[in-house]
Order: sequence, then structure tokens, then C-alpha cells
Amino acid sequence: MGIAGAGKSVQGKLLAKTLDYDWMSTGELLRSQANESLKKEMLLGKLLDDDQIINLVEKYLAKEHERPIILDGFPRSLAQAEWLIKELEKGTIQVEGVANIIASEEVVKDRLASRGRPDDTNKAINCRFEEYKNTTLPILEYLRNSHLKVYDINGEQTVENVQAQINSIFVK
Ligand code: AMP
Repeated sequence: MGIAGAGKSVQGKLLAKTLDYDWMSTGELLRSQANESLKKEMLLGKLLDDDQIINLVEKYLAKEHERPIILDGFPRSLAQAEWLIKELEKGTIQVEGVANIIASEEVVKDRLASRGRPDDTNKAINCRFEEYKNTTLPILEYLRNSHLKVYDINGEQTVENVQAQINSIFVK
């Protein structure tokens, strides 16, 4: 988990390679298969409808998986987090831990500016920051209270340094 530009996908992919896990990003999946109206919402930086996102993740997880999965960008709202915890309680999934990559808006703004994805406009970035603060950040407390191991990672460092922090937790 982390604000836009914190390094979720870069680090998620690196960790997947190190552990030989699969990597699944809801954003990436949506970019490849969302319809035009969803793509428009994404371009505005809005979080998409919970039912649709949960459905997407549910379908993905229901497939045969030989390897564990690094989930990137999910959950991002209370409804999504509640669904995850419910699945955990049912025993359909297990979660090793949550990497919470922390970085300030100032730091990530520069990164997003140099990345240049279509939803990296000033307006969309500000919307994603607001969504993060109002909707995503509050669920960390809920996840912690639900006994998930949430690890805070300093994301304001080099890729290698952030990777080392994450590896020290997840690579045994
Ligand atoms: P990302 O690639 O993680 O930056 O996500 C890009 C965009 O996809 C977000 O700004 C949202 O519009 C949408 N999105 C990705 N994951 C979620 C999610 N878990 N819940 C709602 N919207 C999402």
C-alpha cells in the first residue's frame, strides 16, 4: 500500500522477482481491460467502484495460482478491506503481511512528473492524493486491528534502499 508514486509497483515487481511470486496490480489490470467510461474515471484520478474492483480481484484470485501473489493497489477502501478480511476469516486466502510504503506528497510529486503516465496530470494527481488521504489511509488502522501484519516502509529513499527494507521483512 502507499500513495501514488510511493513505489508500490516498482517494489512489488522487484519483490515478486526475488521471491518468485506472481505480481498483480489492480491499476495495471484495469488499464489493460477497463471499458472507456472506467478509463475516463481513472484519468481523473478517482477510485473506481468497490463492487467492480472486488469482482475483478475475486475473479483473479479464483484462478489456479501456482505461486503466492503480491497484490499491488488493493485494498484501497474500507469496503475492499472488509472483503479481504472476510475472505481471510473464511480461509479462502492467507496474507503474509502488508507493506505500507510511506512517502510525502512533495517527494512523490517529482516522481510522478518524471513518470508521465496519462493520469499523472496535476488535477488527477491531486485527486489521487485526496482519495488516498480520505479513503485509503484510514483503512490501515482497520487492517492493523484485524491482526494483519502491517509493516511501515520509508519510501523516500532510493529504489535499492526501499527494496532492502522490504526484503529484510519478507525474504527469509
Ligand atoms: P494505480 O496503477 O495503482 O496507480 O491505479 C490507477 C487507477 O486505477 C487509480 O487511480 C484508480 O482509478 C484505479 N484503481 C486501481 N486500484 C484500485 C482500487 N483498489 N480501488 C479503486 N480504484 C482503483
